[in-house]
Amino acid sequence: MNSDILAKAFDANNFKETGLNLIGHLTNIFETASQRNVIPYKTPEEQYAYWKNSFKEQSEPLDFFKDVIEKSILYHHPHYMGHQTAVPALPSVLASLVIDFLSNGMGVYEVGMVGNTLERVVCEHLCDKLDMGNNAGGFVTSGGTLGTLTAILTAKSHYLYHVSKGDIDTDKLCIITSDQSHYCIERAAITMGLSKERIIKVPADENYKMNPDTLIRYYNKAVSEGYQVFCIVASAPSTSTGTYDDLETIGKFCKSKGVWFHADGAHGAPAIFSKKYKHLLNGSKYADSIVLDFHKMMLTPSISTAVLLKDRTLAFETFRQEAEYLWEKQNFEWQHGGKSTYECTKSMTVLKVYTLFKQFGDKIFEDFVDYQYDLTKEFARLINSHPKFDTAHQPDSNILCFRYVDCDNPNELNALMRQKLINDGTFYIVQTALKGETYLRVTLLNPRTRANHIHKLLETLEELAEEIKKTKKTDVMGSELLPD
Ligand SMILES: *Cc1c(COP(=O)(O)O)cnc(C)c1O
Repeated sequence: MNSDILAKAFDANNFKETGLNLIGHLTNIFETASQRNVIPYKTPEEQYAYWKNSFKEQSEPLDFFKDVIEKSILYHHPHYMGHQTAVPALPSVLASLVIDFLSNGMGVYEVGMVGNTLERVVCEHLCDKLDMGNNAGGFVTSGGTLGTLTAILTAKSHYLYHVSKGDIDTDKLCIITSDQSHYCIERAAITMGLSKERIIKVPADENYKMNPDTLIRYYNKAVSEGYQVFCIVASAPSTSTGTYDDLETIGKFCKSKGVWFHADGAHGAPAIFSKKYKHLLNGSKYADSIVLDFHKMMLTPSISTAVLLKDRTLAFETFRQEAEYLWEKQNFEWQHGGKSTYECTKSMTVLKVYTLFKQFGDKIFEDFVDYQYDLTKEFARLINSHPKFDTAHQPDSNILCFRYVDCDNPNELNALMRQKLINDGTFYIVQTALKGETYLRVTLLNPRTRANHIHKLLETLEELAEEIKKTKKTDVMGSELLPD
């Protein structure tokens, strides 16, 4: 090569040596995780100053990678119990390397021969499990938010082409969901041009579930006001409390009205693999679309999401732009990823989950769901038997909101407790607001988290509460409330 730099960037021996050393380093981090802090917290300003400063200094990748790892939150730490993104299984991490080495673009068949086929195979398997029918199938998108937009756009085009058949005032299109649904539903609707009053939110009941009777009332009211409801969205489960909506009753209602039924299973659709918990998804067969994140409850690195459709060809109609330079035929062909998705070039992320299916079969997901859902129930029992803590709800899944209550102002105290915990770096949990009250929130999705770790979390939180009550310390870092 005429450039030394390019020659080095494509040098096989360098690749092999750095790669082997990197795997050694990551293995060591994995093995010693519990001796470290789960989060080496620094403020955004400190972080920026550091990286800005180091940007111009050139270094070998391994040194730089070590630095990145040192300064990042460590998901493989047994005290990682925060947001819902998966703690990746190790074979799946290796799949990521293969994906990026091949870097197949996926939009058309030739540059995604294996990837597009694996998407079809995996999605058909999921559709079978969820009992979605013979024409069901799907594809993979980059994340649940994009997957949701894809599904709801498909619902809308289905309504325009097949349900209303042109007899429609698009200013009257509206969507109904619960006030506990993920913000990506609203985001998708707004992206599609729906105004806020056409995104109808049914208030959830005292258990954070969408009450089907309330839903029906809201639906009837919307229709009587001249709105055209093209889609109803249920959560399976919701993000804040992990509560599953009643898919069976809501699904039957949607069917009776001919309304598209979307189930947001980004977090919890994989419960279908568990004999013990699959009943939570009863009614999935009524869904016209289901979104499922592999990077939440299927042990894969971020991000990779299945969009499952009862009628696989409908997404094609939605994204039917003609592009002669890509496709000879302008009809539906599953093998060209770009014909059915919002994305054109796309990463072959399906390999991350396929690797786990291939090595372990469905059983890995059954074991995982059972373990995490059971452990969360155990944690709820522990909290409820503790005189100073209360849960906000009984857990359906592996998400639990709770708080310290032996104080005058639990909102302030619990927020301070969490901030202190993150500053100390010993545990990673998050917080949320429920009915205007502040709660601590855990998602137990770490196979390395055991009963002794949750005991220790509660002990640590109690100590922090006592300490804060004593010192009335308020000089902790600023509050950050990030949604999942
Ligand atoms: C996480 C989540 C989403 C969004 O998925 P991303 O992959 O984070 O974009 C949507 N719905 C629910 C219920 C979720 O938990």
